[in-house]
Amino acid sequence: MAARAGIVVTGTEVLTGRVQDRNGPWLSDRLRELGVDLAHITICGDRPEDMEAQLRFLAAQGVDLIVTSGGLGPTADDLTTQVVAGFAGRPLFLDSDLERQIADILRSLVKRWPDLDFDAVRTANRKQAMVPEGAQVISPAGTAPGLVVPPRNGSGPTVVVLPGPPRELHAMWETVTQAEEFRAAIVRRTTYEQRMLRLFGIPESEIAETLRVAERELGDLSGLEITTCLRRGEVELVTRYEPEAAERYEHLAALIAERHRSTLFSADGSSVDDQVSRLLHGRRLALAESCTGGLMAARFTEVEGSSAYFLGGAVTYANAAKIEALGVRAELIERHGAVSPEVAEAMADGALARMDADTALSITGIAGPGGGTEAKPVGYVCWCAKLDDGSKLARDVRLPGDRTEVRDRSTTVGMHLLRHLLRGEEPPRG
Ligand code: ATP
Ligand code: MG
Repeated sequence: MAARAGIVVTGTEVLTGRVQDRNGPWLSDRLRELGVDLAHITICGDRPEDMEAQLRFLAAQGVDLIVTSGGLGPTADDLTTQVVAGFAGRPLFLDSDLERQIADILRSLVKRWPDLDFDAVRTANRKQAMVPEGAQVISPAGTAPGLVVPPRNGSGPTVVVLPGPPRELHAMWETVTQAEEFRAAIVRRTTYEQRMLRLFGIPESEIAETLRVAERELGDLSGLEITTCLRRGEVELVTRYEPEAAERYEHLAALIAERHRSTLFSADGSSVDDQVSRLLHGRRLALAESCTGGLMAARFTEVEGSSAYFLGGAVTYANAAKIEALGVRAELIERHGAVSPEVAEAMADGALARMDADTALSITGIAGPGGGTEAKPVGYVCWCAKLDDGSKLARDVRLPGDRTEVRDRSTTVGMHLLRHLLRGEEPPRG
């Protein structure tokens, strides 16, 4: 069996959801890259008995490695080192070299706060120089050092202790992976390949059916860990496997491509944003958004290099703004309503003309919760993607979900419309 690991994320702010955990997912990716199978991520507050219970739980699962994040600071609620030392049965001692190292870091930090009493700071930080016997110290990226704590009599997991701030945790990880005790803990590691297929315009249930067919036709799918999930209105199919299952995966991927030719848009992990960005090379894109309030523009500004083609966009929420900023005729809005295919196209025309663009995308819809009518319920959205040669693709559908989901999915649909228009193909219905 491959080396297995668990992650313990600590911090009452993470437990309560005030801060969203970024360390668990990040460490999860790093462990997979190392060929280590992650069994659990647990989250606990800053309470020593809860943290200890999670360490014991993971040890009982037989994991080879536990990585903890958080609770290494100088304050009283930072208790991870004490708990881990107790768990590993390794008494703490004051590492005076480490204490000097932390003091040096602090000296340069306190320069910024001339009123601070350095001795008081130093006393508070002495706690951070307490090290369990036999543990390897990982030099701090901030002020908190990390630890690699091997099991006391060779049985039980090795525990890697890292600080909570993601930037510090990232900076220290490379050193952790070089530590001898860490390498020893993961000696049974393997190699994982991970591939992603992305589909759009297809319900998850159809993929489930394809996987049943695959099992019938290809026989054995063992060795392929297949996960499907719905994200931003797209279906993502992620498969993890060890090298000996590579051929099996290729057969599966071919079968999916065959059955879902029109909806499979990415077989290499690329996102629709990346693809549209490439298709826009040499063009000038302008947006006209209503219900999405700039979310579409935000997606474009997140893509590296988008300044080469993305001119900008108009967020026109009120009718007056659609008229003023985009030149939509008042009479058109009166006749068809602000959320209508006609107004969507007029908005795209306005974006093309006002921003001297050659490519435009407009979105107008009812994201809710109020404002819907029987004919145009909440979730009803109209899009128009148009080029300056007059070619266009338009859609109007009712999207499911709450306000956030409707807005988010609206941007995904917009991306896919642009993709199809720029590739010169009709999108699949649905
Ligand atoms: P410090 O010396 O900064 O106190 P620490 O190791 O004690 O280091 P924590 O007190 O647990 O770390 O967390 C400090 C801050 O780092 C948190 O308030 C939070 O903003 C951020 N942080 C901690 N854990 C996480 C996490 N899992 N995901 C994202 N951010 C986190
Ligand atoms: Mg802290």
